[in-house]
This record gives sequence, C-alpha cells and structure tokens, in this order.
Amino acid sequence: MPAPTASALWQEGWYRFARRADSPNFGPRPEGASIDLIVVHSISLPPGRYGGDEVQQLFCNTLDWDAHPYFQSIRGLKVSAHFYIRRGGELWQFVSCDQRAWHAGASSHQGRENCNDFSIGIELEGLEGQPFEPSQYEALAGVSAAIAQAYPIRHMAGHEHIAPGRKADPGAGFDWPAMHRSLGWPRSAFP
Ligand SMILES: [Zn+2]
Repeated sequence: MPAPTASALWQEGWYRFARRADSPNFGPRPEGASIDLIVVHSISLPPGRYGGDEVQQLFCNTLDWDAHPYFQSIRGLKVSAHFYIRRGGELWQFVSCDQRAWHAGASSHQGRENCNDFSIGIELEGLEGQPFEPSQYEALAGVSAAIAQAYPIRHMAGHEHIAPGRKADPGAGFDWPAMHRSLGWPRSAFP
C-alpha cells in the first residue's frame, strides 16, 4: 500500500480525520509565511474539569460566560487553535491550517516574533503540569505526522517555550521524549 498523499489527508488546510467545528477566530497568514512550527498547549474549562463542550464553545464564541464563576475571568476572550485533542484521543479542528489561528499570543521562537503567523496550534485537553493520556499522545503524533506531510514543519514547542514567564502549558506533565520517539524527527526539532 502506498502512503496516503497529502491531498488525501488534507483539503484546503482541513484534516479529513478530525471532527470539524468552524471558529470565527482566525485571519490570513502573512504573505509567504513558512508554516514550520507546531505549538502544543493544554486547556480545560473550567481548569481541571474534563469531558464537557466548553473548550469547543470557547473557540466558536458560543461559551456561556455566566455558566461558571471561572468564565468571568475570560469573558469576551476570542481565541482559537487549529486542533484540540480530548482525553480519549478524539481530534477536533477549528481553523484551516492555511489560516492563522489565535492560540499563541505574544510569543517568539528562535528569534521570530508572533508565532501565530507561522505555527499550527494543538490544544490537549488537560491541566498544565499534569500528565496526559496515552490516547492523546497517539492522536498528537498522528496529526503531527500528517501536518508534516503537508507543511514544512521543522520544530515542535510548547506554549511555555515560546511565551516563557507568561505561559506554562503544557508543563512538566508533557512527555517530550515520547513525542521524539513516536515521530522520529531529529532531537533538535523538540525543546
Ligand atoms: Zn497555551
């Protein structure tokens, strides 16, 4: 069996094996941007509670800000990520990888500012500093390999690495050596 071509896996930046929920929170990437970085995040709403639909709602601007006291602290926030991986490994996509999602904020990677311009953001359902599930690593490795077939990916980093001092996700519970092993990319591709 030949390996699937990138075009069999992707359509206009949408990965065919992800559940799709369109976020309005995106914009064009700068002309000529080289999409060469994957940024790994963690998120749960409210923090530490898993299994609900609040993260998808946040990214689609449909979250009820009055539904939980914590949401007051993020009321009106307009953010997105390209992908979201649930605890059981279920993969969601909110923004075409050809477009610029709003996940990194003020950030810098190897001297380049504004990582949203040239990165693909992947959120893991979780809490920063805490461990993640084997199914999540499996899904992350799978989608990352598919991304690297379609885009010139050179690095994978955590939000904590591109916004140090400001962000701490995914944190010490994330197993970077496991990603290195399963993807087989050079060690220098990882933090
Ligand atoms: Zn983050």
